[in-house]
Amino acid sequence: MTLNDFLKEAREKKQAIGHFNFATEDVLKAIVSAAKESGAPCVIVGTSEGEAEFVGMKEAVALVRAVADDFQYPVFLNADHFKSFEKCKVAIDAGYDSIIIDTSRLSLEENRAAAKQVVEYARSINPNISVEGELGYLKGSSEVQQKIEISTDDYSKPEEVADFIAQTGVDRMAVVFGNIHGIVKEVVSAPTTESVGVPTEASGEEKLDIDHFSKIVAAAPNAYYVLHGASGLKDEDVRAAIQAGITNVHFNTELRVAYHDTLEKTMHDNPTETTPYKYLGPAAEEVKNLVLQKLALFK
Ligand SMILES: [Zn+2]
Repeated sequence: MTLNDFLKEAREKKQAIGHFNFATEDVLKAIVSAAKESGAPCVIVGTSEGEAEFVGMKEAVALVRAVADDFQYPVFLNADHFKSFEKCKVAIDAGYDSIIIDTSRLSLEENRAAAKQVVEYARSINPNISVEGELGYLKGSSEVQQKIEISTDDYSKPEEVADFIAQTGVDRMAVVFGNIHGIVKEVVSAPTTESVGVPTEASGEEKLDIDHFSKIVAAAPNAYYVLHGASGLKDEDVRAAIQAGITNVHFNTELRVAYHDTLEKTMHDNPTETTPYKYLGPAAEEVKNLVLQKLALFK
C-alpha cells in the first residue's frame, strides 16, 4: 500500500496516521518500534531541512528502509516543511516517500506555482509519492517558546484551499485553524541563573477551531488534511480534529523535549558513564513511550 492508500483508509475510518520527526537513528527506531507495538497500520517519519542536513538525505532513506525491513513494518519518510522546489527535488531524488513543499510564506501565486512544480516533478520520478502543500500562516517553530498571538487572519481560507488543491494536484494539505508549531509557555519569574529559559507555567493556550476546519473540509473534501503543531495541544482537541477529518498528525517538539530531558537527567545521574548507548538508550526509550501515548489518540 502507498502512503496515499493508508491515508484514504484512515479517512474512511476517521483515524489518523502519526508523523514524528527524527534526527538520529535511535529516535527513528524508537518511533517505528512504538508504532508497530501500538498496532497502527503504518507510521510517517519526517526530517525537517535541518534534520535532513544533519542525517543526510540518502542516509535517511537508507536508514528508514533498513528499519522498516528489520521491523517488517511500513514506514514512510517525509521531507517536512521543505522550503523550495530545489530542496524538494533533492529529497525526491534521494528516494523520500513524501514531500511537504512549504512556501506558505510566499504570495498565494508563488506558493501555488512552487507546489505545482513539486507535484509534477515528484510524479515524474515516483507516481506513488505523496505531496503536501501548505496554506495559511502556521506560526511558531519546533521548540518551547514564549507567548504567540494566534489570529483568525492566519487561518487557511476554505475557498483558497479548494482552489489550491485543484490547481496544484497536491494530495495533502497542511492547514491552519488555531494550531501553531511547538509548545508555547511563559517564563513566570524574571530570568535568574536558576530559571533562565525554564518554562514554568503555561499561558495563552493553543485551541483548535474545529468549526473553521470543518468549513475547509466541506469546501475541498477530497484532500487529506494534516494537523501540524500537535505538540502542546490537549488530547481532546487532537481527537476532535481527527473526527472532523484530519488524517495525519505531526508531533515533534514534545519528542525533542522528552529526549533532551531524559538525556540530561541520565548524564547528570551517571556522570562517569561514557558509553553512548548506555546514556542515549533511556532517552530513546522515553521517546518510544511518548509516541505510544500519542498513537493511542489516533484510533
Ligand atoms: Zn509542521
